[in-house]
Amino acid sequence: MKTIGLLGGMSWESTVGYYRAINEGVKNSLGGLHSAKIAMVSVDFDPIEKLQHQGDWDETARILSEAAKNIESAGADFLLICTNTMHKVAPQIESAINIPLLHIADATAEVILEKDIKTVGLLGTAFTMEENFYKGRLIEKYGLKVIVPEDEDRKCVHEVIYEELCLGKIKSQSKLEYLRIIEQLASQGAEAVILGCTEIGMLVNQEDTSVRLLDTTKIHADAAIEKAVGNAV
Ligand code: GLU
Repeated sequence: MKTIGLLGGMSWESTVGYYRAINEGVKNSLGGLHSAKIAMVSVDFDPIEKLQHQGDWDETARILSEAAKNIESAGADFLLICTNTMHKVAPQIESAINIPLLHIADATAEVILEKDIKTVGLLGTAFTMEENFYKGRLIEKYGLKVIVPEDEDRKCVHEVIYEELCLGKIKSQSKLEYLRIIEQLASQGAEAVILGCTEIGMLVNQEDTSVRLLDTTKIHADAAIEKAVGNAV
């Protein structure tokens, strides 16, 4: 079994989900008392979030590259950055290490292509919904059509992530808003909606809607399990 590198803490609320999903997946796959081999560094999210909103991405890249190097030194065979947003600095992190990065947008796109979906809705932070590092990868590398919510709805999705979900607050009003926005994306032609922020699965899940949801935490964790135990049996 390979050792999975996790760069977590962004936020820790969602890293808990990765840790659980990966261990459950390895247990299901190998049975008995098997559990995942994980090397994790969990960062302090408060300074990272401040740097994001100040636009100082170079400093976030420096902090996360240091963390990634420590994960590599701890014996990880490959790395997951446990947040969609911080894939904005994935190229810098990737160039700081010698182990491969399992990119969250690639893992998600593979599931989308397997399901023969051509048009997807995307929910995430404003950075993920509005900038090119994530959306652009889905469009240019995988030929997908990506629909994001209108201005006001993007603002709502972004605020709920930072002011509620990253703090572990689950509010029924926010859930209703998210479900409304998901329906709206489906009515605009989205065949599925990417929960492109690793905390969104804490608020909405597939039982809440008939629109097909693609939870990036689960997809990313599944891809890691496959890569880690693929050669073990
Ligand atoms: N975990 C979130 C994501 O997947 C947002 C927190 C962050 O800014 O990293 O984008």
